[in-house]
Amino acid sequence: MSSRMHTYKMRGEGGYTGVRHRNSARFLALSVFLASCTLPIYAQEKVRLETISRIRYEGFRNSHIPELASGLMDEIGGRLTGSPNMKRANDWTRDQLASFGLAHAHLEPWGPFGRGWAQESISVRMLSPDVAPLIAYAKAWTPGTNGTVRAGCVRAIIASAADFEKYRGKLAGKIVVLGDDLLVKPIQELPFERLSDKNLSELSPYDIERAGRPSRSPEFAQRAHFQDELNKFLAGEKVLVVVEHDREASPAGGTVFVSGGGSRNPTIAPGVPRLALAAEHWNRIARILAHGKAVELELTVVNHFYDDASTQYNTIAEIPGGDKKDELVMLGAHLDSWHTGTGATDNGAGSIVMMEAVRILQSLGITPRRTIRIALWSGEEEGLLGSEHYVEQHFGSRPALTGSDNWDRGSLRVREAGPVTVKPEQAKVSAYFNVDNGTGKIRGVYLQENSVVAPIFEAWMQPFRDLGMTTLTMNNTGGTDHLSFDAVGIPGFQFIQDPIEYESRTHHSNMDVYDRLQFDDLKQAAVIVASFVYDAAMRDEMLPRKPIEPPLPAPATPPVP
Ligand SMILES: [Zn+2]
Repeated sequence: MSSRMHTYKMRGEGGYTGVRHRNSARFLALSVFLASCTLPIYAQEKVRLETISRIRYEGFRNSHIPELASGLMDEIGGRLTGSPNMKRANDWTRDQLASFGLAHAHLEPWGPFGRGWAQESISVRMLSPDVAPLIAYAKAWTPGTNGTVRAGCVRAIIASAADFEKYRGKLAGKIVVLGDDLLVKPIQELPFERLSDKNLSELSPYDIERAGRPSRSPEFAQRAHFQDELNKFLAGEKVLVVVEHDREASPAGGTVFVSGGGSRNPTIAPGVPRLALAAEHWNRIARILAHGKAVELELTVVNHFYDDASTQYNTIAEIPGGDKKDELVMLGAHLDSWHTGTGATDNGAGSIVMMEAVRILQSLGITPRRTIRIALWSGEEEGLLGSEHYVEQHFGSRPALTGSDNWDRGSLRVREAGPVTVKPEQAKVSAYFNVDNGTGKIRGVYLQENSVVAPIFEAWMQPFRDLGMTTLTMNNTGGTDHLSFDAVGIPGFQFIQDPIEYESRTHHSNMDVYDRLQFDDLKQAAVIVASFVYDAAMRDEMLPRKPIEPPLPAPATPPVP
């Protein structure tokens, strides 16, 4: 049993005396027992090495990853759900998949999404005490300035609604420099990271404390609610524009991390223009104001709202199966992104890896036993909306949430909403594989607490040890589209990937662009995904499942959204 998961635990307990001997004997017995349980499964698991070798050959010698990356990132760009670029990306990916020879390439609608939005242009400069251009981006779903405006700045720190009173009547016609003091730190750690053996082994131990933690914290809804309250207050106070910094402590250097600042809900007024400034530029303004000196800015921001964008789309296509064609193996990634970069590592990388995986399988003329279905989702950044709607339409759902604050909120991952009702198709999906952790190569799989698949994936991983794939962990990983499948009892998996510059530079930033992609990593990922999907499509049995999470009692008082 060469899996990293077991051997490492033993070494972790070093340093004790007698206890250690008793423990190691007990542990040995346990390992032998586990081995005796899983060895038959592991040993029996058939891995079709001949096809795996052909997949590797095609993926490493004839990769389409670079041109797919340029087509999506350079020629289309940032793909905020609800923006014209999102629809261009849906159309382009559908046509690419059809051109690979996949069947039933189409766009599947879902909604309501609310209003769409896109940034057209932005120019921000300091007029006094100095004349200087500033790096700035509009936060999504906020209005433009309606032409060029000039005004003085005032500092405000508003952490909750309790702070509103401090500023009432003092902000009209002003540019509000909003936010806590910001520390710009020198870059001490290497922004580029690959998982070391130590990192990987630290991933393995099961994190009991995290078990059963809800996938979406109540804070998520509370933050969204406060943003709506804040926008209402700022508009009520006739604030001209708000300028903010991006993070508590920013690596800065012109990299700005930007997401939403307004509401997609068409019943909520758009609010006031809100911009994210480069940390150094925001700090300069804040320092001058702190010295009691005046700052004047000039801004021209052109944004568009689209009221006809409430229906959004997922791109779907298939490689039809053979003797088990009514059964499915799915793979996917979210195609949408934030708007200031070109959505390269989040999640253009996952999208082109999945497209390349099915291109490889199709190009080899493989007829899988089960049908292979690829899905490229929209709405992920706004709460897994595209994949949740898809799962609700096809596989299962929980009772819908009520209340105006839940107008677009899916109930699939809200156990308090009630039990899951599955649809007949749910029983036909063997597994769903997702990639959404940046451009880094695959190092293993999160098992989402499904221990029975461990020996199966162990066998499937064997041919890729030379590519650095070595690790399985029982732990869950959250925050992306495999959770929509997991919620209705379909085995949904996300791969462990090397971080590269994901958190340090690219995740939701203006520097999330083509140049940050690591192409050899993406080729490796496409080969591994193609192989796992192929193994699942050819296997006699469907992959073993966990039980669906039972509903939780509805909280006594409805949670403050
Ligand atoms: Zn993502």
